[in-house]
Amino acid sequence: IEGVQDVRVAMTSTRTTRRIIAVGSGKGGVGKSTLSANLAVSLARRGMRVGLIDADIYGPSQPRLLGAEGRKPTATDEKKLVPVQTEYGIGMLSMGQLVKPGQAIAWRGPMAGNALGQLIDADWGETETLIVDLPPGTGDVQLTMIQKYKPAGAVIVSTPQDLALIDARRAINLLTEADVPIIGLVENMAGYQCPECGAISDPFGTGGAEAAAQELGYDFLGRIPLELGIRTASDEGIPPAASGGPGADAFNAVAGKLTD
Ligand code: ADP
Repeated sequence: IEGVQDVRVAMTSTRTTRRIIAVGSGKGGVGKSTLSANLAVSLARRGMRVGLIDADIYGPSQPRLLGAEGRKPTATDEKKLVPVQTEYGIGMLSMGQLVKPGQAIAWRGPMAGNALGQLIDADWGETETLIVDLPPGTGDVQLTMIQKYKPAGAVIVSTPQDLALIDARRAINLLTEADVPIIGLVENMAGYQCPECGAISDPFGTGGAEAAAQELGYDFLGRIPLELGIRTASDEGIPPAASGGPGADAFNAVAGKLTD
């Protein structure tokens, strides 16, 4: 009997060694996908075995951000998806690889949940950490995520304005009600340095996410500057964290907090 128990413990521990870190936001366009890609790349550069799941049905963008556009995942004999290997040391699967462009938005609850399941239960091999880029807000994918594939923790991204933060709080509530630990908040698009004169301005304000983190009792994981180079590198499929490009230090600092 002792032997049988040992096997069970071993099986449980193999299953639980893969942890999911969800990256969420209250609304779209705040840089959630950009942060997810750069965190995954940064963690992989630290030697972690990382996979990235693009669960954003409304605007799947990870294939573009990781320079893997047009590459389709294959499947194993057991019909498990095999993640696309990017040149940045991470495997990736995206909702956008399961449907034709523009089609996914019509998905309703069960379909979206099923698709998420296919991405998570894929052939992730030795991957230890899965970063999941959630859709913005509090919809069906989030519900499936927290009910069926409980994340080890969640990172919440917001721009500094009050409005974005109010939305972010809703996303936080959904997660905390399901006992998903909030790892912390990240403020994106803070502090813009004029490429011409070097002056720093704050188009979306600054400090809002840090203040909100403090007020809600969560860790503040860092601030990513608003930089033209972050957008252009992202559009070219080169995550700044991979190349020491614009904002790399800020992305790496946030990633460092996830390994503590
Ligand atoms: P979300 O996933 O929240 O919808 P994205 O990551 O797709 O947001 O970012 C939206 C747009 O803003 C993209 O064009 C992206 O390149 C740009 N962007 C994100 N963060 C920054 C930043 N810190 N500086 C400059 N552009 C950014």
